[in-house]
Amino acid sequence: MDIEREVLETDILIVGAGPAGLATAYQIARLVEADDSLEMPEILLIDKGSYVGAHALSGAVMDPRGIAELIPDYTEKGAPLEAEVAADAMYFLNSKGAIKFPFLPSALNNHGNYVVSLNKFSGWMGEQVEAAGIDVYAGMAGYELLVEEGRVTGVQTVDMGLDKKGQPKSNFEPGSIIKAKVTILCEGVHGSLTRHALENIPQLTEDCLPQAYLTGVKEVWDIPEGRFKAGQVVHTIGFPQHSDEYGGGWIYGMTDTMVSVGFAVGLNAANPTNDPHMKFQRYKTHPLVKKILEGGQMLHYGAKTIPDNGYYSMPRLYHDGLMLCGDSAGMLNPQKLKGIHLAIKSGMMAAETVIDALKKGDFGAETLKGYQDRFDNSWARDELYRTRNFHAGFKGGLVAGLFHGALQLYLGGRSLFECRRNKPDHEYMMTIDDYRRAYGKSPEKESVKFDNEYLFDKLTDVYKSGTTHEEDEPSHLVISDLDICNDRCTEEYGNPCQHFCPAHVYEMVEDSDRPGKLKLELTPSNCVHCKTCDIVDPYQVIRWVTPQGGEGPNYTNL
Ligand code: SF4
Repeated sequence: MDIEREVLETDILIVGAGPAGLATAYQIARLVEADDSLEMPEILLIDKGSYVGAHALSGAVMDPRGIAELIPDYTEKGAPLEAEVAADAMYFLNSKGAIKFPFLPSALNNHGNYVVSLNKFSGWMGEQVEAAGIDVYAGMAGYELLVEEGRVTGVQTVDMGLDKKGQPKSNFEPGSIIKAKVTILCEGVHGSLTRHALENIPQLTEDCLPQAYLTGVKEVWDIPEGRFKAGQVVHTIGFPQHSDEYGGGWIYGMTDTMVSVGFAVGLNAANPTNDPHMKFQRYKTHPLVKKILEGGQMLHYGAKTIPDNGYYSMPRLYHDGLMLCGDSAGMLNPQKLKGIHLAIKSGMMAAETVIDALKKGDFGAETLKGYQDRFDNSWARDELYRTRNFHAGFKGGLVAGLFHGALQLYLGGRSLFECRRNKPDHEYMMTIDDYRRAYGKSPEKESVKFDNEYLFDKLTDVYKSGTTHEEDEPSHLVISDLDICNDRCTEEYGNPCQHFCPAHVYEMVEDSDRPGKLKLELTPSNCVHCKTCDIVDPYQVIRWVTPQGGEGPNYTNL
């Protein structure tokens, strides 16, 4: 279909209104205001969520270092900090009990940090950006990265008003072409435009290892007072994970009657029935968690992936007309599972580089390399470098990981290995036959009895994420070869998509055309945009593409 598209021109296009994108915009405004020789450039900041923060989700305990640099008077300006961390503990869980670590090394200590709701915090940052004179266009979703003669020239936004078959409806509005001197991708984890850049611009990934991901699943609970205090922070390892699986849980006191509870599961599991949502529900059956939540009420649900391999999986941060910030650049400290402060710092450094580029009138790679140089000389790089081998230390399981983690803390990040090679997560998943050979048994799907009062099935949880999508629009989960799903995957892996998706988007149902056989049925309207399927599908036939702007989760307090 030939479509005539409106062409919008801007100086700077920022994709994603999370901490990185908002920090970029705010810092540009701040630097321009402080420099009489500069005029405010045209900045377009777009986000696919229906409001700023609608798709922002994190644990979260925030290290304030980033926001303190960006907005030094952030507390006076009313930043929504739920609570300052007042007590910090780590436990090893087995199925019935909990052993408290006698002390926490200072590098893991959370004192001075804040429990926050990232989606509230992003909303507040959005207000600061708008007060600085920059409009944020929520509900405008980037669909395709535009690259001309090797240079990134902007983004095409999503077509609105197509039916399931991709045909225009009466409300059809073609996506626009946004041309920009520089496009700054701050899409969060595994964004579709970032993915396009990493797959098609070889210079970006020449020296980096594949990313390793976790899927974090989270609920916010209203609990009776006296159970868990505002600012109380608990991290756990162990149950319900096996010792060869990667991940852990958390409980954060947001107020004296509201907690964030969640579990993050490594996507490099061998078991094809690996199910982060189920792991999280099982986590809630542990007495340590149950005694806090039971009798309370679940308020909100969300899920997202986390880039966890750290420094050695970071791409080059720039290209002609392009910069990558925050989670889009894999900037997450895997030892602390924290990235908000790094995202803010990366946005600030990208903004400083934009100012150089404006002064030179050049947005080529040579000038934008200034962003990489700034990063290489920053505390953000030091922090990521100190934790560069953390995730890789768990290759031999939990015990090996704790040993390597302790060694790295002592040796400033050095280990018995350096830059250990890894594979993409989906390559660690075993076929049912391989799993049987390796473990002497078939892969077993974990289970709990859902009562939808304390333990929730996926559909009930999705309802609490506020997720909405138009039913009559093209599926934003694009499967390139459905025969693989319906035949080969059923036989070889048992269709892991029905397990790993935390939103019940994928279901195997009876195929009326092939008695006795199953076929894949999709419910894309449930999707919470976590990207797990795009990452861990063993055949890599699932592509997550951007649906219409304004759709997806509508997170609150998450
Ligand atoms: Fe996540 Fe994919 Fe399921 Fe959407 S369909 S919720 S992106 S796993």
